[in-house]
Amino acid sequence: MAQAQELEDGPAAELPDIAFNVPSVEGRELDYVQEVVRGGHLSSGGAFARRTAELLAADSGSAEVLMTTSCTAALELSAMLMDLQEGDTVIVPSFTFTSTGLAFARQGAGLLFCDIEPDTLGLDPAHLATLLDEHVRAVVIVHYAGVACDVQGIRNVLADWPEVQLVEDNAHGLFGTWRGEPLGSLGRFATLSFHETKNFVCGEGGALLLNDPEDVDRARVLYDKGTNRHAFMLGQVDKYTWKDTGSSFGLSDVLAAYLLGQLEQRDVVQGKRRRVSERYAAALAPYADELGFEVMRVPDDRGSAHHMFYVLLSHRDRRNDVLELMRKAGVQATFHYQPLHTSDAGRSFAVRQTDCPVSQDIGDRLLRLPFHNNLSDPDLDRVVAAFLEASTATLPER
Ligand SMILES: *Cc1c(COP(=O)(O)O)cnc(C)c1O
Repeated sequence: MAQAQELEDGPAAELPDIAFNVPSVEGRELDYVQEVVRGGHLSSGGAFARRTAELLAADSGSAEVLMTTSCTAALELSAMLMDLQEGDTVIVPSFTFTSTGLAFARQGAGLLFCDIEPDTLGLDPAHLATLLDEHVRAVVIVHYAGVACDVQGIRNVLADWPEVQLVEDNAHGLFGTWRGEPLGSLGRFATLSFHETKNFVCGEGGALLLNDPEDVDRARVLYDKGTNRHAFMLGQVDKYTWKDTGSSFGLSDVLAAYLLGQLEQRDVVQGKRRRVSERYAAALAPYADELGFEVMRVPDDRGSAHHMFYVLLSHRDRRNDVLELMRKAGVQATFHYQPLHTSDAGRSFAVRQTDCPVSQDIGDRLLRLPFHNNLSDPDLDRVVAAFLEASTATLPER
């Protein structure tokens, strides 16, 4: 605790805290918002949403991209498009955000929680193989921290189950790659988030990527409150009417305008984030063995989307002590997901209880360092110093 005391009293305590996340304006966001407000088309289906969707489709090669109010909404739309209902099962990781499961549960499907593997914290193919049965309609994967999960392992398991659909909850992985292929292009559906905590933001927003051209026409109807309004706008029908189920999924053009300004700067933003990842990795890796922690890994065949940077401490109490010491040093590090399979709602939506020991263990030991576009060199040095000091102060007796 000597070090913590020193930090509390020392000059570091007078510096402003280093925030965990700071959303930043990166390009023409504010000009575009003015433009859209002056132009008067504020609702969904506007010119900025179209430009944003085109940019995302060009990157992913998707047949169509629908801009939505959130990633959660995009997952819900994918659940509707698969006509999920009671009696169907969807397999989701235990180590993820609630929406990855919630979107399918609220459509009536039961959930099966699958464990993760320790290399990428993505879905574990070996556990997945034990969960599949004739009720399973879909498997949802997450590329945690922007690093692709074991896509090949998962494809190998699903090769025996050709009817099972693959959905990518790609909230972390935009502009990441797996063996050169863009994340978001690997399943029938992929979803994106533009929540203020993600790499590219508009406050609240998301997208559904349709990778099967067969889904496009019906998706347009469900997206537009169950109407064929899109076909009407294209002049394909002379009036539009109620055709199908659906909801109000469309992103306001005010937000799409802001988002386009962000996405136009994707190379700059991803470059800044790569620098943060690389600086953390280079500064911390040499101390990992000595100080008893692990630094996140990126397998050679994957390009990270640089969504976050995490380390794993040796056990839960130590992780919590390190967080507390860093907080005292003015550095806002944080933990992440509590496993879903043991949550109240997870238990009630599960078709049966499953064991996910790795999700539990990782949830206990994971610590995320401050991560945003504009962390300066002195900020990064302070984060690294605070983490190393806290790790040293909490080093277990050997
Ligand atoms: C952020 C996040 C979501 C939810 O995104 P929203 O846009 O807030 O709905 C879903 N899944 C994962 C993995 C996320 O990180």
